[in-house]
Amino acid sequence: MEKMITVRRALEMIRSNVRPLSPEKKILAEATGLVLAEDLRSDYDIPAFPQSSMDGYAFAFNESSHSYQLEGEVAAGDARSISLAEGMASRIFTGAAVPNGADTVLPQEKARLVDGRLEFDASIIKAGDNVRRPGSEIAKGSLALTSGSVLNPPRIGFLSGMGIASALVIPTPRVSIIVTGNELQKAGDPLGYGQVYDSNSPMLKACLEQLGIRDIHIYFSGDVPERLNELLANALSASDLVLMTGGVSVGDYDFTLGAFAASGIHSHFHKIKQKPGKPMLFGTSGHRAVFGLPGNPASVLTCFYEYVLPAISIMTGKAQEMIVREATLEHAHRKPAGLTHFLKAKVAGDSVTLKGGQESYKLSSFAEANCIAVFPEEATEFAAGQRIEVHIIP
Ligand code: AMP
Ligand code: MG
Repeated sequence: MEKMITVRRALEMIRSNVRPLSPEKKILAEATGLVLAEDLRSDYDIPAFPQSSMDGYAFAFNESSHSYQLEGEVAAGDARSISLAEGMASRIFTGAAVPNGADTVLPQEKARLVDGRLEFDASIIKAGDNVRRPGSEIAKGSLALTSGSVLNPPRIGFLSGMGIASALVIPTPRVSIIVTGNELQKAGDPLGYGQVYDSNSPMLKACLEQLGIRDIHIYFSGDVPERLNELLANALSASDLVLMTGGVSVGDYDFTLGAFAASGIHSHFHKIKQKPGKPMLFGTSGHRAVFGLPGNPASVLTCFYEYVLPAISIMTGKAQEMIVREATLEHAHRKPAGLTHFLKAKVAGDSVTLKGGQESYKLSSFAEANCIAVFPEEATEFAAGQRIEVHIIP
């Protein structure tokens, strides 16, 4: 296990040890936002038949004839296959199959009906107008979407339109959150002396839900090592990702490292040269990733955004990391060398202002921030007007 590593090394170790989840067949209705794990082709020409795009009249276009005898009608969904004789026109509606023998639809606004005949000006229409050709959306056998495509609403509509109801996709991880700490109380219950309301589990659940993750279980272990070990073993058997909070330092009531060992988790690193979130622990067990996040809520959230998001991106095959950009620092800032500082900040246009209240127990500054400003490990002086890196909070 590596100890007290740089931010860059921590990310490297996460990226090299987290694996994509195994693809699963899912119905499209349950695949929103997931990544396709196969190439999909259309089994049909779509449209499957020559289809009218207008309410109007269908006929076989003839350069020299602008008058047709009207006969019958065809509406969307009509299952009869109709044939039109030469010189005849049929009433037709949007979405209907153009009768055999016809190739053109005249919109009804442009039609003149005279004694049961359809008449129109030659200049307003050409052969094939207002008829959607079979296969013009997609031809039978053609590639519709490639593996790796995110199933967003237009793509789900596109696939459904060619009759595809399910697909092989990379699922979202099943997640367990294990919260340690004897002091914790749940919001809604009265707060006893010495108790602290649990911010971490609702906050992490919200982070996960924002990513479309729904299979989330939350457990409270207190600071009881046997209970923590048992919960972790259970979580490992039922989850792809385990997020633990608290108990990851070296105090007498910090049992997370021991629980990793008891559960046979391979610990890759403990402690990162950063503030907040220095004591973070990361391990894997088979395909499962396990994060020992700190206890203080602002540290938990920083570590989630900086480290858990990249892990989930790999698991799901979908880029979900924070957007990284540069902004101009409004005020000069100084810090000691040795740790990367992640500071809650607000970016507006091209400039970024640091928030007050950066202590790791405070979420009030996070609640008002829209980005995390990054101050690298070795740098100490940052001048007003200097360009710095910011990570946009999702
Ligand atoms: P620990 O790392 O367990 O010593 O926790 C560090 C600090 O974070 C302590 O002040 C804890 O009370 C606090 N803390 C731990 N877990 C939570 C939580 N779920 N919600 C809010 N504060 C927490
Ligand atoms: Mg604790």
